[in-house]
Amino acid sequence: MSELRWNPMLGEWVTTATHRQDRTYKPPAEFCPICPTAPGAFPTEIPVPDFDIAVFQNKFPSLRPHPDAPEVAESALYPVRTAQGECEVVVYTADHHTGLANVSERKMRTLVDVWVDRFVELGARDYVKYVFIFENRGEAVGVTLHHPHGQIYAYPFIPPTPARELKQAEQHRQKTGRCLFCDILLEEQKDGRRIIAADEHMMTFVPFFARFPYEVHIYPRRHVGTIADLDEAERSALACSIQTLVRRYDALFDKPMPYMMAMHQRPTDGGTYEHFHYHIEFLPLARTATKLKYLAGSESGAGAFITDMSAEKQAADLKEVTF
Ligand SMILES: [Zn+2]
Ligand SMILES: [Zn+2]
Ligand SMILES: [Zn+2]
Repeated sequence: MSELRWNPMLGEWVTTATHRQDRTYKPPAEFCPICPTAPGAFPTEIPVPDFDIAVFQNKFPSLRPHPDAPEVAESALYPVRTAQGECEVVVYTADHHTGLANVSERKMRTLVDVWVDRFVELGARDYVKYVFIFENRGEAVGVTLHHPHGQIYAYPFIPPTPARELKQAEQHRQKTGRCLFCDILLEEQKDGRRIIAADEHMMTFVPFFARFPYEVHIYPRRHVGTIADLDEAERSALACSIQTLVRRYDALFDKPMPYMMAMHQRPTDGGTYEHFHYHIEFLPLARTATKLKYLAGSESGAGAFITDMSAEKQAADLKEVTF
């Protein structure tokens, strides 16, 4: 069973998906459900001996295209909605033991095309208001499958973080007439210390206001709202920027960096959102090779982030690392 329950305190939807309790939890490598199905072996989610990149519906989705009606009754204070949407899994490669840092340039570029394709197709569905492309990586982030993969949630609402960014961007535009994100790029360029990599199409930097250790944002220089608005050269530059960043991350502590990758783009609810600027945020959870960042009282209870390293130092560490 799943449904959306309204939280009137924070003004946001909570998805309750009780059937997910039974989902596969850290299966041994030989029983990986998203490896290709080997001849004569147990059937996986992907019934072919090999593939390039595979996309399929999550077996334990919290949002479904044809959900059951909620079992719980709503009230004026507590509205309830059906959890209608999509949850997809994007398997980056057939190879269980690799990752974005090591896949070929061609595959990385194909992955960007796959994201574009899924964004356009899911975003066109009338019940989908926001397409969220993301990746959870590492046990520290709670990943239950180690095979390199990402996910896509297509929500029937605009989730709180993008909604907040949209509101800030709208206010900035009313005040200045400019795009908030274009201005962030200018501000970062003016200072320069936090830029890790830049080419004519993309900028990779630790933002002045980083909340997570080694938090890095990747923005296209051109003002575009979604990944689908990037041209061919920009898509190649994006693929290269992501792969280079993951290589830096893995070299930093000489082991795979646990992180969450979040792609923020314009909603797909029919609005125009001209003031929004597509970008990717990488939110790592490792402060050092052995210490993790926990979202403790101040972060989880008050929403106020405290970091123990300056954004300038984080950027310098990532810039200096050899990979
Ligand atoms: Zn696998
Ligand atoms: Zn912009
Ligand atoms: Zn964002």
